[in-house]
Amino acid sequence: MGSVPLMRTIALNTSAIMGSSPVLQNYINGQWVASSTTEFLEVVNPATTEVLATVPLSLASEVDQAAQAAATAFVSWRRTPASDRIQYLFKLKALLEEHLESLARTITMECGKTLAESKGELRRAIENVEVACGIPMMMQGYNSEDIARGIDEFMIRQPLGVTAIIAPFNFPGMIPFWFMPYAIACGNTCVIKPSEKVPLTLQQIMQLLEQTGLPTGVVNLVNGAKTVVDAILDHPTIRAISFVGSTPIARYVYSRAAANGKRAQCQGGAKNPVIVLPDADMELTTRIMADSAFGCAGQRCLAASVAITVGAAKQTFTEAIADTAQSRRVGYGLEDGVQMGPVITAQSRDRIHHLIQQGANSGATVLVDGREPAIPGYEQGYFVRPTILQNLDPTSELAHTEIFGPVLSLIHLETIDDAIALINQGQYGNMACLFTSSGAAARKFRYEAEAGNIGINIGVAAPMAFFPFSGWKDSFFGDLHGQGQQAVEFFTQTKVVVERWQDWTRQF
Ligand code: NAD
Repeated sequence: MGSVPLMRTIALNTSAIMGSSPVLQNYINGQWVASSTTEFLEVVNPATTEVLATVPLSLASEVDQAAQAAATAFVSWRRTPASDRIQYLFKLKALLEEHLESLARTITMECGKTLAESKGELRRAIENVEVACGIPMMMQGYNSEDIARGIDEFMIRQPLGVTAIIAPFNFPGMIPFWFMPYAIACGNTCVIKPSEKVPLTLQQIMQLLEQTGLPTGVVNLVNGAKTVVDAILDHPTIRAISFVGSTPIARYVYSRAAANGKRAQCQGGAKNPVIVLPDADMELTTRIMADSAFGCAGQRCLAASVAITVGAAKQTFTEAIADTAQSRRVGYGLEDGVQMGPVITAQSRDRIHHLIQQGANSGATVLVDGREPAIPGYEQGYFVRPTILQNLDPTSELAHTEIFGPVLSLIHLETIDDAIALINQGQYGNMACLFTSSGAAARKFRYEAEAGNIGINIGVAAPMAFFPFSGWKDSFFGDLHGQGQQAVEFFTQTKVVVERWQDWTRQF
């Protein structure tokens, strides 16, 4: 994370690689166009290491072409009634449902998660399309009559113009949908840059968008990495940036966007703590916690990363989670019965190994060690099995470092107050959860924990599309989050009109 590129970079001309794997194209102004770049990356299936495609690292001039197309499209798109704009989203929803299976397979092949996880991701994407279909009401303003005698005042919401979306690798089918449906339903146009590690899913989604008959230039796709991001951040026509990725890059994108006078919402990394109280239902807690920590191979920004056991929960939870971790079936996500796939790259796997060792060096016990995965038939794949670090020192660096892999650290404390204090010392604030059967403990936790997404007896507190995705602290830079009403506010600017008309009755 945090640096580009992590994969093999190849400098070739397009024709030289056409034969081996498809070279992906950009989608600009309703046309599929080859990039003029000479730099490409291989898109690799992390389970099989098969090269699936070659992605261009597009040029700044290609971002300019996409932004110009979006600016031209904006002129008539913003004049299209909202009730007509959402008709394209209704069609998109139907197409996403129809192609769900094949899209899910693509996500699994390029990203590594299981087919069930890929389908779950797509359901979340579709949910955002559904919510954005409510834009005709969601973007309404308000008014007051007679703010003074014969004078009325209105607040109306208008679209911004050209917006841009920069996505991470871990949810290629969902994360662009936290923003894109709202952006276009509100009357904006947009440029999307997928992660260069997983660009295939968005290629397929753009083909579906094309089938809806959406006017050309309303949504454009530019593949690439840092050059594309920087060109987006500096482009004078692009008004707003929606970014999701690691904290150092989120901070960078937010600063550079702000310096260029753009509106920005930048979601960053996480280190999600979960408190387990002794009165929790241990069987349920263990099952939910295993799904949270090891689902999507721990590569979820809402993955449980640290379990803080309080009092007598230590022994029961530790034994149960160790058993569950050991029995999780790891393999290629397209195969039946597989519960966890690989991590995204060899570099990610090596970084996770290094962090496990760092935990051991700082005094933790590697209770379950996933560093020797041995997956028959997939020996070359980037697998790490579920790993548990017991008795991690709460003051160690690792206790506060995002691992982004299937590693759960266990910390033991004596009181819920100590556990909440530890959570609140953390740099991140994406999610915090509590497992308990006490309403009083739950209320205290909800009230005091410093995180934007809270789970009570929930392991992945992912907000539905009609709620904001509320990261705090270093997990979010900005004020308006993605999804729901906050997305509508982000993608519109308010205009206030104060109006006086001569009283017509006096004229006759
Ligand atoms: P990343 O920060 O490496 O990349 C994200 C995007 O930024 C990509 O499109 C990439 O091309 C671009 N990028 C990378 N380095 C850049 C640079 N130096 N300059 C300009 N652009 C650059 O993140 P990732 O590895 O793709 O995704 C994993 C991270 O995303 C984790 O930290 C995870 O917690 C976070 N994440 C957060 C959320 C959330 O909602 N808060 C959701 C998903 C993922």
